[in-house]
Amino acid sequence: MIEQTLIVIKPDGVVRSLTGEIVTRFEKAGLKLVGARMVKIDKAHAEKHYPADRDELWIGIGNKTLENYEKLELNAQELLGTTDPKAIGDIVRVWLLDYMSSGPVFAAVFEGPHAVELVRKICGHTLPLLSAPGTIRGDYSYDSAALANKGQRAIKNLIHASGTVEEAEYEIPLWFAKSDISSYKRTDED
Ligand code: GDP
Ligand code: MG
Repeated sequence: MIEQTLIVIKPDGVVRSLTGEIVTRFEKAGLKLVGARMVKIDKAHAEKHYPADRDELWIGIGNKTLENYEKLELNAQELLGTTDPKAIGDIVRVWLLDYMSSGPVFAAVFEGPHAVELVRKICGHTLPLLSAPGTIRGDYSYDSAALANKGQRAIKNLIHASGTVEEAEYEIPLWFAKSDISSYKRTDED
């Protein structure tokens, strides 16, 4: 039940000086901060963080984009040169790699019961418009897929958080050496 999960405050979160506020929210929920570092990653690191071979992720993002375009009566073929979900996902991936390597980010590992799901709940929905008030994305972001796709860039939604326990197990060692993860007891743990 005790899980570890990775969060990365994206470049927009750092330059908006929301790092402290975001970390505080997780700490106050009872999650234990066991690792933290600020770093500007290169493209190679971003590529590993968002692996090209995670087909389900890129097809899902491609389908979401197609739905959005249909709603907005935009022509994917004209604007993106394709209507294939995987190909569109791959385009968004390139925007995402640019975004994540565009400035310093703040990576941290939080630990606690159901940490992965709890952290996702505190972050809120991927799309700022669908994220509830009280969540990090709901309170502090306003970007949309329509705006982002039009600007040929990733949606600015302040934070990345591991989506599943398996994702966390893959991502944490990408960002932290084992020796950089601390073990201690919070005073409120009992
Ligand atoms: P997350 O786990 O909530 O961050 O969402 P995903 O793993 O599905 O997507 C990764 C990131 O890609 C998101 O946080 C956004 O920054 C970006 N993104 C997701 N969907 C879209 C989209 O349809 N268009 C654009 N431009 N960016 C997207
Ligand atoms: Mg994700």
